[in-house]
Amino acid sequence: MNNFSYKEIYIEDGKRVLEVDILPEKYCNFDCIFCPIGRTHNKVDVQQAFKEIDNSLKELDNMIENNEIDLVYINSKGEALLNSRINDIIDLIKSKGVSVRLLSNGYLLGKDEYMEIANKCDEVIGEIKVITEVDFQKVQRPIGGYTLEEYISNMALFNKQYEGKFIFEVTIIKGYNDDEESVEKIKDIIKKISPDEVIIARMEGEPFKKKLGISDERFEQISNLLLNV
Ligand code: SF4
Repeated sequence: MNNFSYKEIYIEDGKRVLEVDILPEKYCNFDCIFCPIGRTHNKVDVQQAFKEIDNSLKELDNMIENNEIDLVYINSKGEALLNSRINDIIDLIKSKGVSVRLLSNGYLLGKDEYMEIANKCDEVIGEIKVITEVDFQKVQRPIGGYTLEEYISNMALFNKQYEGKFIFEVTIIKGYNDDEESVEKIKDIIKKISPDEVIIARMEGEPFKKKLGISDERFEQISNLLLNV
């Protein structure tokens, strides 16, 4: 059985990118109502051990070797930091002189053990989707005790000491964060986290796009406001 899955290799800024999912199924510390992967049966925030992981590491090693990869993008079904071998995965990639980009929802980045792991990556992506405590609990359904305030401060804390490139992805969601007041609040969050790059996204793909997607025009307006913070 193989735990890792791969996307077709692509070129980004002249670099050969290998995108890998290191989770055999969804494991996440959130359970967002709009998650493209579906409901979480494994809502956890402790690391999980998966079977046959040594074979998966060997396969990753071969994929890098045989395809002249420049960058491995760890983009998983849930929170990649929850794979108990994430350290070994990053070490393997780095030992081959290849860069690592890690996608995380960002909550765990403020915790020492995860901060240390993410610090080894050349690029880390953190994200935010809703901007009030009530919405965070209602639509992102995190593990009990999580707060939006801590979510934001975890990413700020991480980036304060991180030497790599921190990319912050903000998803604009109709009815949740697409009004003027919300945009101002997002600006403050961006200032607090102080990322190297901001990406503005919106709900894509049905059934979420119809209900939660914003128009092209509004998307452009908000992007212009947020990309010039
Ligand atoms: S944080 Fe991402 S992977 Fe986790 S439940 Fe939300 S949308 Fe899905």
